[in-house]
Amino acid sequence: MRYSQYLLATLKETPADAEIISHQLMLRAGMIRKVAAGIYNYLPFGLRAVRKVEEIVRQEMERAGALELLMPMVVPAELWQESQRWEQYGKELLRLKDRKDTEFCLGPTHEEVVTDVVRNTVRSYRQLPLNLYQIQTKFRDEIRPRFGLMRGREFIMKDAYSFDLDEAGADIAYEKMFQAYRRIFERCGLKFRAVEADTGNIGGSSSHEFMVLAESGEDAIVSCDSCEYAANVEKAELVATATATPEPTADLQQVATPGQKSVAEVTDFLDLTPQQLVKTLILQTDDGQTVAVLLRGDRELNDIKLCRLLDCNEVTLASEEVVLQVTGAPSGFAGPVGLKLRLLADHEVAAMADFIVGANVVDSHYMGVNLRRDFTVETFADLRLSVAGDPCPRCAGQLESWRGIEVGHIFKLGTKYSEALGATVLDDQGKDRMLFMGCYGIGIGRTVASAIEQNHDDNGIVFPLPIAPFQVLITVVNTKDEAVLQASEDLYQALQQAGIEVLLDDRDERAGSKFKDADLLGIPLRLTVGSRGLKEEMVELQRRSDGERTMLPLAEAAQRLAEQVRQALVR
Ligand code: ATP
Ligand code: MG
Repeated sequence: MRYSQYLLATLKETPADAEIISHQLMLRAGMIRKVAAGIYNYLPFGLRAVRKVEEIVRQEMERAGALELLMPMVVPAELWQESQRWEQYGKELLRLKDRKDTEFCLGPTHEEVVTDVVRNTVRSYRQLPLNLYQIQTKFRDEIRPRFGLMRGREFIMKDAYSFDLDEAGADIAYEKMFQAYRRIFERCGLKFRAVEADTGNIGGSSSHEFMVLAESGEDAIVSCDSCEYAANVEKAELVATATATPEPTADLQQVATPGQKSVAEVTDFLDLTPQQLVKTLILQTDDGQTVAVLLRGDRELNDIKLCRLLDCNEVTLASEEVVLQVTGAPSGFAGPVGLKLRLLADHEVAAMADFIVGANVVDSHYMGVNLRRDFTVETFADLRLSVAGDPCPRCAGQLESWRGIEVGHIFKLGTKYSEALGATVLDDQGKDRMLFMGCYGIGIGRTVASAIEQNHDDNGIVFPLPIAPFQVLITVVNTKDEAVLQASEDLYQALQQAGIEVLLDDRDERAGSKFKDADLLGIPLRLTVGSRGLKEEMVELQRRSDGERTMLPLAEAAQRLAEQVRQALVR
């Protein structure tokens, strides 16, 4: 491709509405342009990167035995009514009507459609296992679309769905996808972790999220520093360290804490540390339970674990009125001593003695508080969010904490959709059997954005070679110099003949501004052809990743580069 003929709408200034670096760079490098909130044009340079990721995904899906199909983006409401998600899915589902007033939605995911395909085409267990995938445009009317392709409303997803006769078969399908996902993200050149995820209300028994590690990530994850264990903080297990409750050494004593409500205020005021305080959260569930949860002062509640314990969908902090009613004091002074409420506590509290709690009296706390002597807890459980330094639940290692961007998600679905839509096959006894399903998604655009989030410097993008829009950039230092132009042209032809994707910067521009654009675009291998080098029959090769420069003999340059590219792409 010749730069002079190519559409590369680079920007010098950082667009004001782009918050994270990948979004800024994708706009500046002319990869995408916004059409409406969460809806983008993929310009030629950006589309090339998207296609690269798609190709890697395709190859690995095929390697894992999945078959590509293409389902429609516009889906009849009927199918979604069969699974009851028409009512359940909420506002992310964009609903529309055709001229006959028939209802449709724009597919945000395709479990219903694919289950319909399978119930109409698969009859016998002999046709299993089956895994169908597509790479297609999805629409979700996200409440807060942002960060460019990271969280769009219209976005490209690879979604795969496996069908098996039984759970053991479904487990194998899941494992295959797990391995395929690892290969995909490795091949994309990403630093990532496969983390155990919460299955939420989508149903199913097991789930992993593939998280690209990046500061701008929306998810908090922990991973072990010595084994493979990694989990979403919401899911991370904390082993109860089985230390016995220490004996009290202090007497229970009420102290005045005028106006001191937060953990920091109270402990500062009393000249103690948050680790010496037990905070009492008064919480309400969506099904009408009111409970008190005790946590060490410096810990955060893990509401997902609490919901699981209480068998509810949601917990929220009780209102000021409720707190006053159940504790007799305004919030900030709640405590377990004398409290007539179901009392749950995190395991860690069991190992504490002589601590501080609220006194259920305004402007007042207790010091020297001890379990059993002063109050009793109904249940001790794992209720806090895990943090860096916590022990690994699988080995003797320690957990590290990260921010992560979810680029892929795999899920065991069980028979949820096959039951709802009646998708069965005949087994070897001639009996109808419900299909066991799995679903497996990858955000294609989000993967490109995450790669940039991880691979950039102050001057621009540093594309990992496997997903770079072009592999080699030839900078013609001076297009007025016939010899330079000719040598560049020869290199360009030779590289293309060797199957290398080359961008030839043949613009009539100052060398300095070409180099600036080269940095911004992030093409991994750069050949600079100038008159000085040519006198010695040499051209300069520079790697974008570390800036390393080497001089190559002109005659060998194309061949040497083609070799480097081939080696980098070995899979
Ligand atoms: P998130 O929690 O980020 O909203 P999700 O759990 O809703 O993601 P899935 O339903 O599992 O996502 O979709 C599969 C994949 O599709 C995700 O792992 C992600 O890579 C991608 N994806 C989901 N929503 C978006 C979006 N709004 N924009 C871009 N990619 C998305
Ligand atoms: Mg979502």
